[in-house]
Amino acid sequence: MKLIFATQNRHKLNEVSAILGKDIELVSLPDLDFHDELPETHATLEENAEEKSRFVYNRFKSNCFAEDTALEVKALLGAPGVYSARYAGEGKNSDDNINLLLHQLGGEKNRRARFRTVISLILEGKNHFFEGITEGTIPAARCGEGGFGYDPVFIPEGHVLSYAEMPPELKNKISHRRKAFEKMNAFLHEAGKIR
Ligand code: IMP
Repeated sequence: MKLIFATQNRHKLNEVSAILGKDIELVSLPDLDFHDELPETHATLEENAEEKSRFVYNRFKSNCFAEDTALEVKALLGAPGVYSARYAGEGKNSDDNINLLLHQLGGEKNRRARFRTVISLILEGKNHFFEGITEGTIPAARCGEGGFGYDPVFIPEGHVLSYAEMPPELKNKISHRRKAFEKMNAFLHEAGKIR
């Protein structure tokens, strides 16, 4: 089946195309010559994911999905959370976000955090949510150069390497995103849309 991925983030596009099975033909927004940023105006991952997928569904009238992801740090009461992308302010980048995160945590002993992804799939006009969570910890300083976003400051539970230090295949096997997309795959399989 054909599904549009409502994102302008090429890192997410690469990860998701490596995660999804061959039964899904992934169509990107650049494939459709659509280059505008998508609206993300809400205070929850669910609302933001559905806002993006509805926007694209209304525009292209085609089955599609979007995802919204947050890094939730226990000692910061869930921050940066839904504001992960703009943690250090509008116009700042991932490097600035990481600097602020490490600064806010300082010498805090409790370094527990989790990544949470929520997918909104619009199938024949109806919304379905899927969630994926990976628990982990925030190291005292950046580790590794790979990945994107907060990858250098997230060490998933049961591992010694950060997401940015591991080969992409390993991140894709254990990540929050992987877990959410496995649920979407299972749902599409149950619905008889894919094998
Ligand atoms: P959004 O889902 O595009 O709003 O992303 C929220 C923020 O989390 C952005 O700063 C992303 O760079 C970051 N982010 C999203 N997914 C990941 C990931 O898998 N690893 C590290 N950072 C991520």
